[in-house]
Amino acid sequence: MEHPTNPAWQDHLFMGGWQITDGPGFNAVEPATGQQLARLKEATPQDVADAAHIAGKAQPAWASLPFDQKARILRKAAELLESRANEINYWNTRECGSIGPKAEWELQATCEQALMSAALPMQPHGEIFPSNMPGRRNYWKRVPVGTVGVIAPWNFPILLSMRSVFPALAMGNAVILKPDPKSAICGGLLMAEILQAAGLPEGVFHVLPGGPDVGEALVNHPDVGMISFTGSTAVGKKIGETCGRMLKKSALELGGNNAMVILDDADLNAATSSAAWGAFLHQGQICMQAGRHLVHESVADAYIEQLAARAKNLVTGNPWKDQVHLGPLINEQQALKVEQMVNQSVAMGARIVAGGKRNGAFFEATVIAGATPDMPIFSEEIFGPVAPVMTFRSDQEAIELVNASPYGLAAAIHSASTGRAQAIADQLHVGMIHVNDQTVNNEFQVPFGGMGSSGNSGRFGGPANLEEFTTSQWVSVMEQGIQYPF
Ligand code: NAD
Repeated sequence: MEHPTNPAWQDHLFMGGWQITDGPGFNAVEPATGQQLARLKEATPQDVADAAHIAGKAQPAWASLPFDQKARILRKAAELLESRANEINYWNTRECGSIGPKAEWELQATCEQALMSAALPMQPHGEIFPSNMPGRRNYWKRVPVGTVGVIAPWNFPILLSMRSVFPALAMGNAVILKPDPKSAICGGLLMAEILQAAGLPEGVFHVLPGGPDVGEALVNHPDVGMISFTGSTAVGKKIGETCGRMLKKSALELGGNNAMVILDDADLNAATSSAAWGAFLHQGQICMQAGRHLVHESVADAYIEQLAARAKNLVTGNPWKDQVHLGPLINEQQALKVEQMVNQSVAMGARIVAGGKRNGAFFEATVIAGATPDMPIFSEEIFGPVAPVMTFRSDQEAIELVNASPYGLAAAIHSASTGRAQAIADQLHVGMIHVNDQTVNNEFQVPFGGMGSSGNSGRFGGPANLEEFTTSQWVSVMEQGIQYPF
């Protein structure tokens, strides 16, 4: 069923409430067809300054709202997300090219984020420390940062925005969210409607769709105390530089080039099932995508044959019209980039075993044999449905190959011996490792994040959120004033 646009989207921005603005407009475009879905308002750097002002005024009252009232609003947001599931999944399919199950999973994971965040305000927020001065009490407590800027990508736009927005709000911050314009409806405007309907006080949450100039204005604004950024390593480094110069807190969740390691004793049926899911889900447009398949040489032929058979069974098409496994990439430019990486690698000696063809923004599930570390398909983040396979001879060589990448987001290891797999895991410079599974994993209650070029060691999820979205304060109390020597 088609869902209508909200008339407010055309000429309003959500700045703690819907506000008419006179900035430029832009089209929300369906990647599968190129069709215009809606006309939306783009934010300007001036809107960032205005939002920061409004947020700064609203934040103290929000922070001092009793914890149970904050929790109630976040639980209500989860309830509204579920009750509007058909509509949100509709927009995720049409605006982002997501297949139904991806959209459903993303929404469910976002509900869990809301519910987990609703439990944060009631957690202990501090500790009592002893003092070496008689009659003194020391307590240390978490306090909100103030206003948190959230900059999110287009691939899982709802989850990757809200995994920062919900806990930041829960910890008493105001939030300014800058979604990518390619996913401004699901990753921003619908979330503004949900939080407003859930009863979030005016002024506390803002949604400013826009490009790099709006992102930069947010990062550079002196009243925005923290940036939570999810996106590419190149942009993350720039943001990190600015935040460092401004002594601003930053959480940077960046790109990946994640390895699946298949040992000689692995169950190949399970390994290739994992590999197909990890490489092709959402057309490979996932930071945790299984982009490097390192396979022991003794089982490589069988692995390639089974993975290619799975790839050839996958149907690519318009997920709004048909039952498909793979939808379009986010736009034709992205598909062209993937095609170019494949072609360059083939020119360097790689062999396409399945797929390899592009049609507009669509790209087939592709398996490539004979990959080597110097090929772009192996050394760079692909962000497309391509599984390059390379062989190794020993566990030590596999470890060295995994660690040769500057990225360190996720890895997976398949082996009949979980002890052997864990011994390898202990030597990987990677933030998240899954034994006998694939690389694309996210559980809301477990701290999530990467190492190396995949981030600055920030972590989302579970207890990590308490630390991530707060700063802290030491308060000492003397029963009576002290007489110092002078
Ligand atoms: P991107 O870095 O181009 O854009 C991400 C966001 O940053 C967008 O909202 C964009 O408008 C904004 N932006 C761009 N330039 C900016 C600037 N100079 N200053 C401030 N903001 C700016 O990334 P993308 O292409 O949208 O997303 C794909 C990338 O994100 C991949 O590299 C992927 O691996 C990564 N990613 C990482 C995670 C993770 O959790 N580690 C999750 C999803 C995606």
